Amino acid sequence: MIAEYDLSNVAEIWGKQLKNRQFDLWRYHELLPIKNPDPLISLGEGGTPLIKAENLGMMVGCPNIFIKDERQGPTSSFKDRQAAVTISALKEAGITELVAASTGNVAISYSAYAARAGIKLWAFLTSLVPAVKMHEIALYGSQVVKVTGTYDQTKKMASEFARQRNLTLDMGTRTISSVEAMKTISFEIAEQLTRMLSPKTDNIHKSLKWRSPDWYVQAVSGGMGPLGVTKGFRELKEMGVVDKLPSIAIIQTDGCAPMVESWKKGLDEPLTVMHPQTHIETLATGDPGRTYILLKQSIDKTGGCFESVSDEEAFRAMHIIAKMEGLSFEPAAGVAFAGLFKLIRNGVIKSTDTVVINCTGHTMPAEQWLLGDDWSRDIELPSYEETPQQDGLLAALNRVAPERFPRIAIADDSLESRRLIRRILQSQGEFTIFEAGDGKELLAMIEKEKPDLIILDLVMPEMDGFEVIEILKRNQDTANIPVIVASAKELTPNEKNRLKGQIQTLMQKGEFLNDEFLGEVRALLK
Ligand SMILES: *Cc1c(COP(=O)(O)O)cnc(C)c1O
Repeated sequence: MIAEYDLSNVAEIWGKQLKNRQFDLWRYHELLPIKNPDPLISLGEGGTPLIKAENLGMMVGCPNIFIKDERQGPTSSFKDRQAAVTISALKEAGITELVAASTGNVAISYSAYAARAGIKLWAFLTSLVPAVKMHEIALYGSQVVKVTGTYDQTKKMASEFARQRNLTLDMGTRTISSVEAMKTISFEIAEQLTRMLSPKTDNIHKSLKWRSPDWYVQAVSGGMGPLGVTKGFRELKEMGVVDKLPSIAIIQTDGCAPMVESWKKGLDEPLTVMHPQTHIETLATGDPGRTYILLKQSIDKTGGCFESVSDEEAFRAMHIIAKMEGLSFEPAAGVAFAGLFKLIRNGVIKSTDTVVINCTGHTMPAEQWLLGDDWSRDIELPSYEETPQQDGLLAALNRVAPERFPRIAIADDSLESRRLIRRILQSQGEFTIFEAGDGKELLAMIEKEKPDLIILDLVMPEMDGFEVIEILKRNQDTANIPVIVASAKELTPNEKNRLKGQIQTLMQKGEFLNDEFLGEVRALLK
């Protein structure tokens, strides 16, 4: 069974009314199976920001990356859309008890909404779900049932429990209201993207001509998100609101990637992973069932793809986005970002493509895997009686940063570029960084600060990079400081010749994500 709507009507109604509606999930209620938000349930779901990832875009050489910030839902994941609509439907139907299996976030979100709806939730969770998440679920009044087994086994337990007790069971991706709810992600993306890419168009509602991104990227477990998002874009296209469907990129973690493995083998039916090997429990659906079949069909039609990344790549992506864009999220979303990096690196996603990536989830449970031992510096103050003077405090503070960090001088006439390189370096280690805007300034700085490494732009006013290098090489104090040239343009053979033997590395700007860049920096600093 699927939900169908009279789409011809909807475009007309939206054209007239959308501009006066609140920016939340219910503004698209004509295309939802529930017409009105129940004020007794609603928590302000949907209507999350679309954020341009400017720094990340510069770093990977793909300027139009947008982050759909689903963390800003009531319980910090896009499951809030599903919970708002599905719990409303269950309440309308007079249901008072519900059984659901979850890898964590569905249970958190269902619990919050079920609490408001007066529905009791039996939340079946694998014991891998972090304790902090379980506590939150219990706090909302749900009964947590911990199953020591895989998520697929947990689903079977939940189903058997519901059958024995004759209780309603959440059907996962076969729950119509849930798939329908996820469509609102695509409606919001199209509307927001249009506003952000064409800020001059003031009435995007009257004409109702919106833009699809070229790509929608999401980390996938059961596949509810992309099922809803593809259906949403299909409906927009049928209504003539958008011209094309985005390609969908489904990212899984190497330790549990049944969809990716099946797709890469060209299979129409999914393989199953019996024993998922990943720390990222949110994504531990080993048996994708018919959702794979549905997703494969629409992804093959729209030029999308399935890709997987390691847990470590996901953790690394979390560091990068937190430090480059100020967003912290759970490892599952890190999987999506690591997948994005991989697809850009492999040329699947092109530098001219507009990309929207779903960013969602809680940070807390991630910490044990994410940070090394060195993440904090502790200050132990002597007791006041022992050292009442200020001296004791200052001595303690001095111990906070006693080391000499490697010193790097960046010379580039573009402030933006310098900031970018600074951010990239700081996102991955401790460095003391100096910036110069032209060659002359750089030479003065080198004399004063004695850097261990120089990152140099070639085209600069006053004195260009070529001249800087020649001067450095002539002086024996500076001749041995390693130089990385980061250039925005392709060099001519003649220019390359001038640099030959003089510098350590030549980088094209926009290729900074290359593990090579930081590898180079580290190697040269040794
Ligand atoms: C649920 C969830 C996913 C997986 O979503 P599906 O579309 O159901 O596969 C990914 N990331 C986070 C943070 C989630 O909560």
